[in-house]
Amino acid sequence: MKTAEIREKFLQFFESKGHLRLPSFSVVPQDDPTLLFINAGMTPLKPYFLGKKPVFPGHEGEWYRVTTCQKSVRTGDIENVGRTNRHQTVFEMLGNFSFGDYFKKEAIEWAWEFLTDPKWLGLDPARIYVTIYKDDDEAFEHWTRVGVPPEKIHRFDADENFWPQNAPTKGPNGPCGPCSEIYYDRGPAFGSDTWADYYETRESNRFVELWNLVFPQYDRKDGGVLEPLPKPNIDTGMGLARVAMVLQGVTDFYETDEFQPLIAKIVELTGISYEGPSSVAHRVIAEHARAVAFILSDGVHFSNTGRGYVVRRLLRRAVRFGYLLGLREPFMFKLAGVVAEVMGGVYPELKEHLEGVQKQIKIEEEQFLRTLESGIKRLDAMLAGLAPGDTLAGRDAFTLYDTYGFPLDLTIEIAGEHGIQVDTEGFERALEEQQERARAAAAFSKELFKRSNEALAALAADYGGTKFVGYESLEAQA
Ligand code: ATP
Ligand code: MG
Ligand code: MG
Ligand code: MG
Repeated sequence: MKTAEIREKFLQFFESKGHLRLPSFSVVPQDDPTLLFINAGMTPLKPYFLGKKPVFPGHEGEWYRVTTCQKSVRTGDIENVGRTNRHQTVFEMLGNFSFGDYFKKEAIEWAWEFLTDPKWLGLDPARIYVTIYKDDDEAFEHWTRVGVPPEKIHRFDADENFWPQNAPTKGPNGPCGPCSEIYYDRGPAFGSDTWADYYETRESNRFVELWNLVFPQYDRKDGGVLEPLPKPNIDTGMGLARVAMVLQGVTDFYETDEFQPLIAKIVELTGISYEGPSSVAHRVIAEHARAVAFILSDGVHFSNTGRGYVVRRLLRRAVRFGYLLGLREPFMFKLAGVVAEVMGGVYPELKEHLEGVQKQIKIEEEQFLRTLESGIKRLDAMLAGLAPGDTLAGRDAFTLYDTYGFPLDLTIEIAGEHGIQVDTEGFERALEEQQERARAAAAFSKELFKRSNEALAALAADYGGTKFVGYESLEAQA
């Protein structure tokens, strides 16, 4: 089943259960200064969970059930990209939401129906496993009723199966609740581990986490008191590419239909074939190309802070992997074209802003390629004097950052490939020292500026009569 078909089926399924289908929101949060990026389907809908009337432009009436396929960004997963089979920086999260309407019973029954009914995904029910919060007997009852045997249901603590994580003990106050996660056993071809191994180690290539059903049913008060909400909510999230990878029976999401054109383009550009998980460079480039295209087409620009810095890091990491494959000219802008071609039907902004996005990427690539080459030579020279197990001085990492625009994570990654660690605390210290120097220099030049303005004003007064306009316009800049 193609990715597009899975996406469409999900949205149709929940429409058939009375949900309003909304298009994805921008990855840039609209009214939430606490958040860098939208990181789940529920985040742009938060106000409705907190009681805002659920009315949506262009749709008549109030909608207490909504379904979306939301572009989500998880910067915490950047390092995982290329290494695990399941993490993307930008991914599509399928979700169904209830604003104080239906609850656990329906959420569980519908998840089960959608996954297992041959009319929908038709996954093998015998391969489905679930986790629940330790004392959520209600969820346990619903799962066993739909047909999951008790031995396939594992109870986890609040550090795994509560949202927000650990809320009962650590907070924050506000709406929170247990969650229940759905796993799929891809079978022995993907590993010899068992379900019990998974919940001991929480790492498996075989048992894949597909869907998280969150049950915000409490209002947490001071001291960890959980007061039941009069109208509990439902918030779910399922990674589209993970479902596609399971249904297409492929090793990982890089082999799904929506990633293949990107991988093929990288093979074409480099002349180096794709060999699966060992082709880390192909994977990182493909994923980051998609991420960069999505983030820029929502209006973010490359910069040294905030969102702009995240997208800069992504681009640089990809360019550096391209460099390893022998690419010495800009290429990421071409991949943005492939992303728009493949995904532009669902996310029209990818096509609408393509020209501008490609221009920005190309300029950024050209700049970075120039410094990359000299930086890599310098780093290689630094590493040549060290042996595996050694640590690269923070000051050296800082020199690369300061002189060659080499991001710290890139230095850590390259050094790591030689078995060498980087003294990141030393890096931070060097960075602070430099910022201190910059502040001092700025204060000094401001003082100088003020004095020269005073001198100019005195001079102007001496000459009398002549109106000295420069003073005002200079002052405005000071
Ligand atoms: P994982 O344990 O694999 O990191 P998670 O528990 O952090 O996933 P949730 O916060 O529960 O993920 O998000 C809901 C769903 O979104 C997951 O069950 C998964 O299918 C999907 N998902 C989460 N993170 C990613 C990611 N980085 N790339 C692709 N899909 C993801
Ligand atoms: Mg995660
Ligand atoms: Mg998880
Ligand atoms: Mg999860």
